[in-house]
Amino acid sequence: MVALSRPGGQRSGHAPDLNHSLSCTVHVCDGKLGVVTASRNPTTAEELRGAGLRVTAARVALLETVRRGDHLGVEAIAAGVRDRVGHVSLQAVYDALHALTAAGLLRRIEPAGSPARFEGRVGDNHHHIVCRSCGVVADVDCATGEAPCLTASDDHGFSVGEAEVIYWGLCPGCSTALSS
Ligand SMILES: [Zn+2]
Ligand SMILES: [Zn+2]
Repeated sequence: MVALSRPGGQRSGHAPDLNHSLSCTVHVCDGKLGVVTASRNPTTAEELRGAGLRVTAARVALLETVRRGDHLGVEAIAAGVRDRVGHVSLQAVYDALHALTAAGLLRRIEPAGSPARFEGRVGDNHHHIVCRSCGVVADVDCATGEAPCLTASDDHGFSVGEAEVIYWGLCPGCSTALSS
């Protein structure tokens, strides 16, 4: 725990020390110092807790593995989790992926004909471009901002929350290989 220094005590300047406060709770208590907005990034464990999820070492490792990865599949995610916390069953990985996706911390994409992949970039309605040959996936920002970025010509009375677009093509490597 970190207590803010009392008035007249050590002054640490106006920038909060983000590294130092990573695992601490910062109380901005009495307003004597004026407006102090301690905007820091929450830890992974805090994010899980904030999403109403039980915090386990495996879930923390899983969320960080997916975020560091690039649209990883389940096997690669399981390998990443095991590297960090030891043996975790594939079923437990599936369960955690389901829970974190349902809570909005992860996004699942499933291009036709390929296994599900997961990513940590959520909430921005971005799209994906997929190589037909090797299956590599890349992010494509939404063309017009917030979801839904495409207005359906007939929404059938649905409240549309997302427009999923997948661009299919050949990645540069596969294009080169095919043309040479
Ligand atoms: Zn390719
Ligand atoms: Zn993505």
